[in-house]
Amino acid sequence: MAVIVLGHKNPDTDTVTAAIAVADLLTKRGVEAKAITQGAINPETDYVLKKFGVAAPAVQTSVEGAKVALVDTTELTQLPDDLAKAEILYVYDHHKLGDVTTSGPLEMWVWPVGCTGTVVKNAYDFYGIEIPKAIAGIMLCAILSDTVMFKSPTCTECDKKAVEALAKIAGVTDYMAIGLEMFKVKSAVDGTPIRDLVFRDYKDFNMSGKKVGIGQLEVVDLSILEPIKAQLLEECKKVKGEEGGRHSVFLLLTDIMKEGSEMLIVSDDPKIVDKAFSVTVTGSSVWLPKVMSRKKQVVPNFEKAFA
Ligand code: MN
Ligand code: MN
Repeated sequence: MAVIVLGHKNPDTDTVTAAIAVADLLTKRGVEAKAITQGAINPETDYVLKKFGVAAPAVQTSVEGAKVALVDTTELTQLPDDLAKAEILYVYDHHKLGDVTTSGPLEMWVWPVGCTGTVVKNAYDFYGIEIPKAIAGIMLCAILSDTVMFKSPTCTECDKKAVEALAKIAGVTDYMAIGLEMFKVKSAVDGTPIRDLVFRDYKDFNMSGKKVGIGQLEVVDLSILEPIKAQLLEECKKVKGEEGGRHSVFLLLTDIMKEGSEMLIVSDDPKIVDKAFSVTVTGSSVWLPKVMSRKKQVVPNFEKAFA
């Protein structure tokens, strides 16, 4: 039975491409493996896969009885509900260690870098396995996406080196041009249901026993979102009341050119934002200069504020 390789819910480009790459790497190491996603891929990932001619993995939400490899997360809230009935054999990630546990030993590659793609690139090198051209292309896009084209504070020299090397393998000369094209696709909101925008890159967190949802929309120009901001806020209010209720829902509207985020706030305790970011919020949103990374800037600040 093939090892199932999967990333987080609301799959992003890193989760999808890392699953594809790890499935390839494991297969070439003699371990039969296949990538899946827990949901439909987003427009950015669709653009990336089509650009390099790679098929999207099948959608699957149950892993009962399977041997699995996790990529891009180790958080139970972001993994299938029946994960406890699966056996975790591999982890490739770049986030803080989450709350999964295993019954046996496992192979873990968890590095403090900007993207799982960077970790997987180094794993290919470690095993002396050649990266296929198309997979190098999608991995380099994942790194540009996760690091917001090297602008995110999560970006490391290791990520930049990986992109340089992957670009050579993929035969890409101007990778920044591909990155910008990718972010333009990501920025497009016309015709996309408001709910899909809120959930495009959304994660639930457990913060000192409180359920907190944090979504992020990255655009090349915040003015794109101006006409729909009120609707986005209304949808966040709806989401807050769903699934037994949440303490807070925050939506980051990140302007990758201005390098900052406007945060839409729906919370039982809006003052938590003041505490987390040393600001004084008056309405239902606040501009946070230089805040680009949910993982490195927003989640840790909120975790401290909620503690
Ligand atoms: Mn991800
Ligand atoms: Mn990632």
